[in-house]
Amino acid sequence: MIVVSAGPEQRIDPSGDELGRDRIGYASTMSPAALYDATHGTWLLGERAHRECFALITHEGQGVLAVAIDRIEPVAPGGQGSERSVIHGEILVPGHTVYDTYIGVQSPVPPQRNPVGYFDATEERTTCACGCGELTLSGKDFVPGHDQTALHERVRQLGGVVAFIAWFDRIHGHWPDINVVYEPVSLKGGGPTGAPARARHRLGCGHFFLDEEGQIINRPRLATAGEMSSLRPCKSCQAASVKAAVGG
Ligand SMILES: [Zn+2]
Ligand SMILES: [Zn+2]
Repeated sequence: MIVVSAGPEQRIDPSGDELGRDRIGYASTMSPAALYDATHGTWLLGERAHRECFALITHEGQGVLAVAIDRIEPVAPGGQGSERSVIHGEILVPGHTVYDTYIGVQSPVPPQRNPVGYFDATEERTTCACGCGELTLSGKDFVPGHDQTALHERVRQLGGVVAFIAWFDRIHGHWPDINVVYEPVSLKGGGPTGAPARARHRLGCGHFFLDEEGQIINRPRLATAGEMSSLRPCKSCQAASVKAAVGG
């Protein structure tokens, strides 16, 4: 959990603020949305911030706003100028465990000089994906080391690495170069349909659509790790991949 200590409400010059705001900080008269605007940026956030699920805004040592983090973005895209970030997310309301646990009570982080602190909240922990029943650190799937143990245990069950690879290639198919996805777009407007991609392709396979000027409508992007395992490889890309591998 990112714990941000906000000072009292302060009027500022919007032209000098990276988010164009006219006030920052906390006032008891602010609505949750106004408080969110005034406090979700701009902060110097460390690496750890990107693993956290929740942000808690505190004022004078008390929790005043809880946010389920959606994403954290640099204020200045492209990394020029500011190194500060903005926390984007959903404002939590009464009834949510994190709201009920941290709002209106003492901050879990003791007073410190840095306005940004971190807290290992039990609400962010999940049980280890290996099945051992232990709780992970926030944002982690496994207790450290348990991913390696779980993986090697499975390799051993199949008789070793050679047997494991043969099994994987037979069941899943090994097509590391078929790693591009074209977002489905509408053939009329060219806009994205929002539908998930149906297959993955080799870059440059030509299985995309062109507009009247010959521009590619659906731009390729690299498949995510999830898509590499869940999307089937395009049939003709598979054939091209085999050809490339044997030097044809
Ligand atoms: Zn485990
Ligand atoms: Zn293809």
